[in-house]
Amino acid sequence: MEDYLLLSGLQHFQFCKRQWALIHIEQQWEENVKTVEGHYLHKKADTPSIKEKRGNKIIVRAMPIHSHELKITGVCDVVEFIEDENGVDIVGHSGKYKAFPIEYKRGKPKKGKEDIVQLVAQAICLEEMHLINIDKGYFFYHEIRKRVEVSITEDLKKYVKELTDEMHHYYQKKHTPKVKTGPHCRSCSLKNICLPSLMNKITVQQYLERNLYG
Ligand code: SF4
Repeated sequence: MEDYLLLSGLQHFQFCKRQWALIHIEQQWEENVKTVEGHYLHKKADTPSIKEKRGNKIIVRAMPIHSHELKITGVCDVVEFIEDENGVDIVGHSGKYKAFPIEYKRGKPKKGKEDIVQLVAQAICLEEMHLINIDKGYFFYHEIRKRVEVSITEDLKKYVKELTDEMHHYYQKKHTPKVKTGPHCRSCSLKNICLPSLMNKITVQQYLERNLYG
């Protein structure tokens, strides 16, 4: 699976294609408070307790997942398998189950789709691995301590397929998209890497204008 991409990159790609390329193609990373806190929460969800049965539910933590169709691999924070007569068999358990991915997030629901594309990609992986259909998933937002349901629609699955196709295209070409600044740059964990080069260019240009053509 060496040409498979990390599922977690989808949220970066949705947020800013350049940010994704800086992290996943150029391997640049700068930890700010948000990413450190995010790692902490993920670590908690990633405790290797793996499987637990509670009533009609099987809860699997830190479940490795992949999709050959999207050529991505990743880890689901939590997958809940809930007994349902319309579900499918799960190896080692009696009864039939429906599966729901649950992703832990540090903040509260975002305006953009960056969290949602990640959850939808997880659902696509689980569908492919277990030959099931997943129509909803959940986020658990740490800041508001609330579980939020998300409908996993066919349109969203199609959108995620288009995103991963584009990611593979950039990745094969090792192409980092140019800077396209916007309000999102303010909360970007790579702005100190990405924007100074832009600033330098402006300064050099201003310098030349002032000193050579002024
Ligand atoms: S600073 Fe802005 S353009 Fe640069 S990587 Fe971050 S979000 Fe993208």
